[in-house]
Amino acid sequence: MQAMVLKQAGGPLEWSQLADRLPGPGEIRVRVAACGVCRTDLHVLDGELPDPRWPIIPGHEIVGRIDAIGRDVVGLQLDQRVGIPWLGHTCGVCQYCTGGRENLCDRPQFTGYTRDGGFATAAIADARYAFPLGESGEDVALAPLLCAGLIGWRSLAIAGPGNRLGLYGFGAAAHIVAQAARWQGRSVFAFTRPGDLASQAFARRLGATWAGGSDEAPPEPLDAAIIYATLGDLVPLALAAVRKGGRVVCAGIHMSDIPAFPYRLLWEERQLVSVANLTRQDGLDFLRLAPDIGIVTQTTRYPLQQANQALADLRAGKFEGAAVLVP
Ligand SMILES: [Zn+2]
Ligand SMILES: [Zn+2]
Repeated sequence: MQAMVLKQAGGPLEWSQLADRLPGPGEIRVRVAACGVCRTDLHVLDGELPDPRWPIIPGHEIVGRIDAIGRDVVGLQLDQRVGIPWLGHTCGVCQYCTGGRENLCDRPQFTGYTRDGGFATAAIADARYAFPLGESGEDVALAPLLCAGLIGWRSLAIAGPGNRLGLYGFGAAAHIVAQAARWQGRSVFAFTRPGDLASQAFARRLGATWAGGSDEAPPEPLDAAIIYATLGDLVPLALAAVRKGGRVVCAGIHMSDIPAFPYRLLWEERQLVSVANLTRQDGLDFLRLAPDIGIVTQTTRYPLQQANQALADLRAGKFEGAAVLVP
């Protein structure tokens, strides 16, 4: 197999020829057809996440077909198309796993961070964490659903049922969540980098009621806001934009420090919460609904060997929607 391997913080990823691996008990091997590029991959690249594992193959939005099956795997078959998400393994016995919150597992493994991911021609996955994808939809179009979609969906649920929803940072996750929120009948208010008129126009095309810079106040108070951007400065801005009793959800795995802010922004029962990872149930729920919602992902394809370019373009905000690597 070939892979783009990250050997140390800062990179670059290196094109490498690796020995083919066989799936162990409970594992499958997938021939990768497409792998989305996520902002979390930038945090892995930059060494911003705790306890990194080097070398590592990044990538946790994998779409591919099973080409080998280990012992004790049930319910999956050769050549079946599956998706492999960020949550790659949980212990099954800690208080979070047994309490229905496996996203908070004490001993988890994350695809493309603590176990090898999909910036490769093949990937090994714990079979219990692979989602059957069926045959409808293109591989490249489905890839962003595996993280931007799944964690986006979880953040949307945690935002609560309010009608007026703010989305800070209009990238891969927000462009999917905006479609899901519109389908639910909500009004979407999109906040982008100040002056990023292209992203604001993109948000309006996806049904946003209003789009503006993150330094602007929305035309009416929001019921909830979700922050996908990694800038801690956005937290007080989002708190100021939600009504009394409103909720602000931080959906990223990493954020720059949140500046001090006056207590009155939190007062009146506003809530500030974070969303971590996903559960398999989130994945099943979202992937079942995605065809009904009619989600259309906007993708920019890169050959696998251009993973470094895709990451640089993501960092620079050079495309709308999501980048997807194709071996
Ligand atoms: Zn656990
Ligand atoms: Zn991700």
